Amino acid sequence: MKTVEVNVVTPDGPIYNGEAEMVSTKAKSGELGILPNHIPMVAPLQIGAVRIKKAGKTEFVAVSGGFLEVRPDKITILAQAAELAETIDLARANAAKLRAERRLQDKQDTVDHKRAELALKRAINRISIYESLK
Ligand code: ATP
Repeated sequence: MKTVEVNVVTPDGPIYNGEAEMVSTKAKSGELGILPNHIPMVAPLQIGAVRIKKAGKTEFVAVSGGFLEVRPDKITILAQAAELAETIDLARANAAKLRAERRLQDKQDTVDHKRAELALKRAINRISIYESLK
């Protein structure tokens, strides 16, 4: 089966490099499934999962937004933060979720609601990707 090279890169360095038969993710414009030999493209990503499929197995990666760059032989995901599902710290994500929920309930205008909403989305994304491993 044809494959395409996949790289997931964060400010801390690469977190994934490998070959894939298909990469699925959520772009701002909607769900994308990219096969080898795809035409070149750049798309902004949502906070969500990147699913990397190869030989009947799927690797799940949590990404906190960023960009997808597609070339026929290579897919690069540039993310502010990204974790392989098996490296997600569930307790940390649960704590971040609680913190964000408390901030969103706080009516004081010193609270940055947009920031809390994004933190909540990141936490929920990590929790759901961690759960998808089971
Ligand atoms: P927290 O409030 O727990 O720091 P956050 O969403 O604000 O969560 P980020 O700013 O998105 O965290 O990420 C900072 C760094 O910590 C990144 O390198 C990210 O991969 C890592 N990280 C954040 N949460 C987790 C987690 N639950 N498990 C593993 N790594 C995490």
